[in-house]
Amino acid sequence: MLPDQDGQNTGGGGGAASEDPSVSLLREYLRLKTVHPEPDYDAALGFLGRISEELGLPMKKVEVCSGKVVTILTWTGTNPALKSVLLNSHTDVVPVYQEHWKYDAFAAVKDAEGNIYGRGSQDMKSVTIQYIEAIRRLKAAGKTFPRTLHLTFVPDEEVGGEKGMETFIKHPEFHKLNVGFALDEGLANPTEAFTVFYGERNPWWVIVRCPGSPGHGSRFVENTAAEKLRRVINLFLDFRERERQRLNTSECFTLGDVTTVNMTMVKGGVAYNVVPAEMDVSFDIRIPPTVNLQEFEEQIKAWCKQAGDDITYDFAQKGMNQNTTSTEDSDPWWRAFSTACKSMNMTLKKEIFPAATDSRFIRAAGLPAIGFSPMNHTPILLHDHNEFISESVFLKGIHIYEMLIPALASVPTLATEA
Ligand SMILES: [Zn+2]
Repeated sequence: MLPDQDGQNTGGGGGAASEDPSVSLLREYLRLKTVHPEPDYDAALGFLGRISEELGLPMKKVEVCSGKVVTILTWTGTNPALKSVLLNSHTDVVPVYQEHWKYDAFAAVKDAEGNIYGRGSQDMKSVTIQYIEAIRRLKAAGKTFPRTLHLTFVPDEEVGGEKGMETFIKHPEFHKLNVGFALDEGLANPTEAFTVFYGERNPWWVIVRCPGSPGHGSRFVENTAAEKLRRVINLFLDFRERERQRLNTSECFTLGDVTTVNMTMVKGGVAYNVVPAEMDVSFDIRIPPTVNLQEFEEQIKAWCKQAGDDITYDFAQKGMNQNTTSTEDSDPWWRAFSTACKSMNMTLKKEIFPAATDSRFIRAAGLPAIGFSPMNHTPILLHDHNEFISESVFLKGIHIYEMLIPALASVPTLATEA
């Protein structure tokens, strides 16, 4: 492994000489600018090529769209006919507002407390390196497992996954992986507990179009677009408020258990003195898997009808898959996952993911997927300023995967595999 070249000039936290090589590798990966809108995916490919050689694992590159490559590293099991375990991570990160950061967001500075700052330190370059380092240690210890492990490194998760996992999952190369169970990203947890995600809310992006009578801005024009728009906004936002109350008054609810509604765009009008012939409003709605989607659309239809004549709506996005992953003890994958966690005295908190990740494509394909980023005692800073992970939490996470990966790769032959 290459020594950490810039360790000395980042200040604090001990010099590069005393740094764990796993931490140096994370910091090196954080420095690659795989940031939107123009991620340097070539840098990531070069990095992963080196990892493939270091680990002695064959690498396959699948170009799912022009310039968008999914990289696969494979550790073949002793019984390759069995379903495999997928360790998925995305290589891209979201942009930064550098002026709000304490340090350069792509310098991977480690401060005196051992906190490593960088875009992707939580979402989700830390997890990528934890997978890699856990496998490096398991291989070095001479371990083998019945089930094959595939590490996939996918592009474009942060821009919806359309040119990443969504396309890859339909690709013949994905089917060849013969996946039985997948791990993907989760979220940090500020307490002692670790959050695990077994489902996601469905995003619905709705545009509501309100036509009305045009006219001169000096008159009481009847049946205007703005009056309808106002009623539409009220109906949607009244529902928003009811859901907000429901979340706030129930101790056991998290964001993933309620429907959120946010008004995100308004369009309409041509001049100060012209009453417009149409005004449109858009909402970002996130619906938990427990909600009946047909009934929810009926509700939208009813609100539009109630708000006035000829109001229509369209979807820019309409997720319809409500598959969740079993967290029953009778499920062999969950039992392996949760038993390994229990053996490390970890407290797990099961939740519905409030936003969207690539796991939704995996679950939509009928495969079980758990969203898990082993970061407890860590504030949730994904997509935020000053995103960081502490060195000790990061290193503990490698140890967690050293226990989880063998457990999952040793799940006994399933009835469906016999
Ligand atoms: Zn992510």
